[in-house]
Amino acid sequence: MRDDNCIFCKIAAGEIPSNTIYEDELFKVILDLSPAAKGHALIIPKEHYANLFEIDEEVAGKAVQVAKKVAERMQEVLHIDGLNLMQNNGRAAGQTVFHFHMHVIPRYAGAANADMLRYNPLELSEQEMQELKEELKFGLFNTAEQ
Ligand code: 5GP
Ligand code: ZN
Repeated sequence: MRDDNCIFCKIAAGEIPSNTIYEDELFKVILDLSPAAKGHALIIPKEHYANLFEIDEEVAGKAVQVAKKVAERMQEVLHIDGLNLMQNNGRAAGQTVFHFHMHVIPRYAGAANADMLRYNPLELSEQEMQELKEELKFGLFNTAEQ
């Protein structure tokens, strides 16, 4: 499936040029045009899925495997001090291109430009934490903890 109005579908199909660093049957990995750091790359499935909710589970798993390969390549070639995997879903989460992609962002100690993925932590009451746990929990093994 592809979306004719989607820039990442066009990049994946090679209709728009990109700096590609890895490609296989399912993915293209390109350098981000507005990098947070030197080497910032995007893992783009060739099929169009808008986000994590739409992507095929198996393809999502393979995207993480590709992320590991890219991360190891960056560690080998660039003098990186750390690395973030980031994947945004929905405008509220900062997604701007609505074709699933995973950011691989190498980090360099002391880099002046990079404000890390920061937030001011909320202070939730014990009751709020318990309520959230009750709403969210699933698939737990250890019944003693529940
Ligand atoms: P999002 O905010 O949706 O998670 O990330 C979209 C990313 O795609 C941004 O970091 C942006 O710089 C990058 N981007 C947007 N358009 C293009 C493009 O045409 N080519 C490349 N290489 N990156 C792009
Ligand atoms: Zn697309």
